[in-house]
Amino acid sequence: MLDILRSIVQAVNDARNLEQALSIIVSRVKGELKVDVCSIYLRNQETSDLVLMASDGLDPGSIGAVRLANNQGLVGLVAQRAEHLNLDNAIEHPSFRYFAETGEERYHGFLGVPIIHHRQVLGVLVLQQRRRHRYNEDIVTFVVTIAAQLAGAIAHAELSGDIDALASPETLDVLALKGVPGAPGVAIGQAVVLQGQADIEKVPDRKVEDPAAEKRRFLQAVKAVKLEVRAMVENMGDALPTADSALFDAYLMMLESQSLIQPILDGIAAGNWAPGALRDTATAHIRVFREMEDPYLRERAEDVRDLSRRLLQQLEQKPEQGKRTRYPRHTILIGEEITASMLAEIPPKSLAGVVSMRGSTTSHTAILARALGIPAVMGVADLPVSRVGGREVIVDGYAGRIYINAPATIKREYRRLLKEEQELIEGLQGLRDLPAESEDGFRIPLYANTGLLSDIAPSLHSGAEGVGLYRTEFPFMIRERFPGENSQSELYRQVLQAFHPHPVTMRTLDVGGDKALPYFPIVEDNPFLGWRGIRITLDHPEIFLTQIRAMLRANAELGNLQLLLPMIATLDEFADARALILRAHAELLEEGLELPLPPIGAMVEVPSIIYQIDQLAARADFLSIGSNDLTQYLLAVDRNNPRVAALYDSLHPSVLLAVKAVIDGAKRQKTPVSICGEMAGDPMAALLLLGMGVDSLSMASSSIARIKWVIRSFSRRRARALVKKVLQADNPQLIRHELGRALERAGLGGLVRAGK
Ligand code: PEP
Ligand code: MG
Repeated sequence: MLDILRSIVQAVNDARNLEQALSIIVSRVKGELKVDVCSIYLRNQETSDLVLMASDGLDPGSIGAVRLANNQGLVGLVAQRAEHLNLDNAIEHPSFRYFAETGEERYHGFLGVPIIHHRQVLGVLVLQQRRRHRYNEDIVTFVVTIAAQLAGAIAHAELSGDIDALASPETLDVLALKGVPGAPGVAIGQAVVLQGQADIEKVPDRKVEDPAAEKRRFLQAVKAVKLEVRAMVENMGDALPTADSALFDAYLMMLESQSLIQPILDGIAAGNWAPGALRDTATAHIRVFREMEDPYLRERAEDVRDLSRRLLQQLEQKPEQGKRTRYPRHTILIGEEITASMLAEIPPKSLAGVVSMRGSTTSHTAILARALGIPAVMGVADLPVSRVGGREVIVDGYAGRIYINAPATIKREYRRLLKEEQELIEGLQGLRDLPAESEDGFRIPLYANTGLLSDIAPSLHSGAEGVGLYRTEFPFMIRERFPGENSQSELYRQVLQAFHPHPVTMRTLDVGGDKALPYFPIVEDNPFLGWRGIRITLDHPEIFLTQIRAMLRANAELGNLQLLLPMIATLDEFADARALILRAHAELLEEGLELPLPPIGAMVEVPSIIYQIDQLAARADFLSIGSNDLTQYLLAVDRNNPRVAALYDSLHPSVLLAVKAVIDGAKRQKTPVSICGEMAGDPMAALLLLGMGVDSLSMASSSIARIKWVIRSFSRRRARALVKKVLQADNPQLIRHELGRALERAGLGGLVRAGK
């Protein structure tokens, strides 16, 4: 049975679309189990009807025609009860309903199994037998297993509207699709589909006669792509809140990186043509990034892919699609994979929204869209891309939802929200130079999180009063080996200088867990519970000391550096790391350099340390709560696992109690405490953090204006009362409800939903 199951699942996975997948299932199951009929009914999202979508055995004309409203018939009963039903004579059952189209009256034996995904019944898989027959347990469990395996695939197709497409392939009715929020905001505009790019993986090998000429051709293409990237930066120029080109610096850096270019040249020297050599190197790089667990780094695979496509286009001398396309005034850019560079090619004035089938909140595209203030929805899986061009699309970047051909009522509502939204954004701009101060006079400096893509310029322009978390992993990741002291020092100095005299909190290397270095692979069964952050750097003092020396040297004459230690789980770890920092400092003094000793802080992100918070706070110069990891470790929910994503919630009462315990402990020891996880940029959580008495907040620079508005709209006294109230709630839903109401009442509802 297991073999049959595997082979059916494999065949389904290889299917081109849902229609083909369903027809494979019904015919394979019918054949393997030797039954007379196998059919699949799926629930139509809009009408809730159960629609016959595929059948081997019933009249083919009935497919798409048989619709069961209100859980009618035996199939409806199975869906309603979410339980299988095994009958030897279906016709005698009171719920039996006869459909003339199917010729069902001939069948007696009936087995209906619900197809359930995330607790929701998506449809029913049905077996029927001409004679009276009750299916044995083996068959029942087999069909239950098949249904469970297929539920995920069907759920995706359902979201994409693929099911509607099956019923009426030519038309595209109203579609409401769900993805993930990429950039906040609402947009209404006309879909422009960008697709059909060169597929790097499909490039064949070809021998070249003259490798030297081929090398020249390739280097010419590299040059042309560099020019292209620079042109994009220029095109963006005024549109970005700043002249920041950091996003594309990473592209240029890759084009200059020996780890990318040299193997391609070697491949050409070995006799392959440039596209073939490019394919080998690009796919190897893409694989390395893809296998990283950190979602941010996984997304970097798409950057490599995008660059490779551009190189390929140059090699093939095909004009770029982007340049041929004309863009309407309110363009909603739609594609299987909208890359940051595609986005940059569109005249910024025309771009209203972005929808991408691939990607997530941490994609470059999403980061760039946020910087540009363009609403974006990412990860709209199975969006029927080929059929949406030219249609009117509504993008709700808050809810991560899009509507295609929305009915007039929805459109009217979104128009109103759009107008309010514009008024809200205009209002927020006025806050840039105002302090983040509560109504009763408490100042909470707002800092920016930077580092992964050195988004220094947007941070500076956001009104950030410094950097609360500079993640040093990125410079380590884009290299082929550990960077040396000098190159690190130069980089850190740029950051310190850019923000001087404001403080910059640099976190020491936090790799391991979900962040791997290509040249320092760590293979573990449970990486999040393994060799990570401070555990690695304490085991490798040579790496740690090099980084610390580089940071201390970068801080010479500036003095705005603060050091932050990640993943502190024990007091000894903090003491050991601090001792190494003191040693590095002493050595630099011995070498004749005059350098201040910066404040040394600890991240609070491992639950164990919460129970020793007083001792830690007494030893550290400051604390910074890493709510991303703290939430993951407290709730035992992998922060990157989509299966348990719904359980990952920083507003869980236990997380809030933990955060409060840390802040209280820090206060007792008079140690400043900040939050640098995503929580700090969430308007609801920020309100609670104000009430808990946090000293500062650090967040993505795009969140700063919004959070400033929250802080300026509440008194700490009121926020404290809210903390007291919500900490009594049983679950995050009640807490959200309460906080949502408080924001609405203060006129800030527009921060957490569409509208003003
Ligand atoms: C955190 O864990 O909240 C944090 C800020 O660090 P990172 O997201 O880099 O793990
Ligand atoms: Mg962390």
